[in-house]
Amino acid sequence: MKIHTGLHVSRVFFEENALHYPLGNQILQRVQKAGLDVQYLKSHNRVTGIPGKNPREAFFEGKNSLVIGVRKGLDFAGCKPSAHFQLPLITGCPGICEYCYLNTNLGGKPYIRIYINIEDILSQAANYIEERRPQTTTFEASAVGDPVAIEELSGTLAASILFFADQDLGRLRIATKYPCPPSLLDLVHKGHTRIRYTVNSESIIQRYEHRTPPLGTRLTALKELIHHDYPVGIMIAPIFLEGDWQSEYRQLLETVRRELPEASVPDLHFEVISHRFTSKAHRVIDQVFPHHTLPIDEKTGRMFKYGQFGYGKYLYNTGQLAEMRDFFSSNIARLFPEAHVEYII
Ligand code: SF4
Repeated sequence: MKIHTGLHVSRVFFEENALHYPLGNQILQRVQKAGLDVQYLKSHNRVTGIPGKNPREAFFEGKNSLVIGVRKGLDFAGCKPSAHFQLPLITGCPGICEYCYLNTNLGGKPYIRIYINIEDILSQAANYIEERRPQTTTFEASAVGDPVAIEELSGTLAASILFFADQDLGRLRIATKYPCPPSLLDLVHKGHTRIRYTVNSESIIQRYEHRTPPLGTRLTALKELIHHDYPVGIMIAPIFLEGDWQSEYRQLLETVRRELPEASVPDLHFEVISHRFTSKAHRVIDQVFPHHTLPIDEKTGRMFKYGQFGYGKYLYNTGQLAEMRDFFSSNIARLFPEAHVEYII
């Protein structure tokens, strides 16, 4: 059953403790109203009952499963380069992007999980903000999933945006490919939440980003946010330096420019991220998408580098990355002289 744009749910699991929280009960009512089958669990970390006879089936059944749980550990992970900390509201995403970084860190059945103890999570965010005073502390809500795709059901982004509106030294960042539900648009955000749309060239979207909105829908959603005075951004990721990538990405930047007239976006930010992969991701992708065409051959000139979480990744080589940086910095400066480029990596 489809209960929100992009969110296909076949089954819902509730951790029993989740029903001790008001939000847990609200979500239960919403899923029951949608006619979904609900099962109960002792712990949201031990989910049994998602079918899957092989890795591919397990992956897709996981994507269609929703788990409602209570987040117990309240330490937040770091989130370089986009923010100081992750804000753990959800894990997972209904999208099926073949290259997705989540394909390896959410297990073989990558279900979507909503944490319902939002008061505890935001109170911990307040502690981190206090500890870093007088510096400003930023939190990324999209580090391990796409919370916008699930917001209509969870409501935790709305609560977070209202919380951050009241923080003089706390800022929230959200990245998504999905249109924001109306419940987010009219909130009092005081400019403390920046929402970025992840985009890519038309051919990459069509080839690899299944079950996600097309580019035009993402840009329309971005314009809607600008209309509601949200600080916004464009995240171009992941960048594939293959074939005639310059003309594909030039076309993308020109499309974005046409859609966002200069005067309408006084504070546009860009983040630009090249594609990278791990050997483990390569193995999972081969199992789940046996006919994929992703350029993920470890032996074709990529460079190997250890990342912030201690495992190695294959990046494009130094020369390719330098060429990419030149290309994006000059084209963004040419087309968006008013914009701020946060990083090109
Ligand atoms: Fe992963 Fe983002 Fe695609 Fe969701 S939309 S599958 S989080 S890359």
